[in-house]
Amino acid sequence: MPSRSRRSTSPRPQAMHSARASPSSRRHASAKRSASAAAAEKTGRGAPVPRKRSTRSSAPGARAATSAGASRKSRPTGGSAATISPPAAFAERLARVRAELRSRKLDGYLIQSLLEQRWLTGFTGEDGAVLLTADQTVLLTDGRFDQTADREAPWATKVLRGSRGPEATAEWFGKLRLKRVGYDPAHVTVATFAGLSKAARGTKLESAAGIIAGLRECKDTGEIANVLAAVRVAQGAFERVLKLIKLGMREREIAAYLEFVMRDLGADGAAFEPIVAVGPNAALPHHHPGDQRVEAGQVLLIDWGAKVRGYVSDLTRVVWIGNPPDALERAYRSVRAAREKAIEAVRPGASTGGLDKIARSVIKRAGFEKQFNHSLGHGIGMAVHEAPSLRKTATDKLRPGMIVTIEPGVYLPGVGGIRLEDDVLVTERGHEVLSSLPLEFRIL
Ligand code: ZN
Ligand code: ZN
Repeated sequence: MPSRSRRSTSPRPQAMHSARASPSSRRHASAKRSASAAAAEKTGRGAPVPRKRSTRSSAPGARAATSAGASRKSRPTGGSAATISPPAAFAERLARVRAELRSRKLDGYLIQSLLEQRWLTGFTGEDGAVLLTADQTVLLTDGRFDQTADREAPWATKVLRGSRGPEATAEWFGKLRLKRVGYDPAHVTVATFAGLSKAARGTKLESAAGIIAGLRECKDTGEIANVLAAVRVAQGAFERVLKLIKLGMREREIAAYLEFVMRDLGADGAAFEPIVAVGPNAALPHHHPGDQRVEAGQVLLIDWGAKVRGYVSDLTRVVWIGNPPDALERAYRSVRAAREKAIEAVRPGASTGGLDKIARSVIKRAGFEKQFNHSLGHGIGMAVHEAPSLRKTATDKLRPGMIVTIEPGVYLPGVGGIRLEDDVLVTERGHEVLSSLPLEFRIL
């Protein structure tokens, strides 16, 4: 799915498609910190609250949650006894965020984004906030996600805060004696900020944009495996649905089949609403599938992706329905050549803006410069659009572990559009194209 060619200055509320603020720091935290952070988390060293895992901060008459799993039963419910330590991947991420907090002299960080909470702790509940300190991970949620928290993040300090969102969260600033708590302005609403500020006595709230977004740019091996699984499910669904497509079928039916088959093949769902566009509709890069039917002599453009274990794929292919107009075939050849050149240039150190320029110059030579009206690509991971952005004015450099889309396109109003989109991993030495679908499809 294409992203706009210019950076947005105002974050949009939908995390999936939001353009975030650029991280101010992209440094890799040292791995050395992981072990010590994990140890601190495990023993709770220096934390001023009891090590009791579960705390209810609201709901009159509520009692402390009892142990839900075997691993919890062996754990004492009070005092300063050891608790469970986080799995290695999360311990590493926690350590990297903590290193960032130290460098900014913050003693706490409030994470309001559900996506970022999942990245940091594995918790998938739909109500939550994480308050991270030097040695504690406090997970604030409500009763609906009590068991979810026990299953997914048993090592965190769980707080069931009920409906008293910001106030109950701010209470913990005091309990943990935090002086400076950072938050990401991209993920805190004005209402939440007002509630937090009112309730946070003695704690200074400080804007700290993009800390986690910056760390999410480079994926670890588990994350890469998840994206690859999402690519495979999406490709499997495409191949199955392609066999079902016939003349007269509506765009919305094709989109529905794709979503069904992706789930059937193991996806949590579609990564985004599939774009299925016939003929002139394909000239709209973000067309919503409607009642247009598949007709001979048209192009069919499909942009789709799957979500697997919280990670997404994002692919685009065009299918010729018989013989399309000549102009589209010429556009296709230029897009395909631009795709090749851009993918060839993907390697650590390559400039994101430079990649866009490489693709754009190929399309310009074919005379379609003005018809390539979005950026070359974007990062993918837990979100469909995340950093880095491969837009012409960008100056970021690619780093190993980034996964980006390469998706040049040419759109001819009233005729149709062409886009080819693949998901490419930046490796230590170059790149690996994670997607492997053929580039040419024709039915009829
Ligand atoms: Zn796409
Ligand atoms: Zn895309």
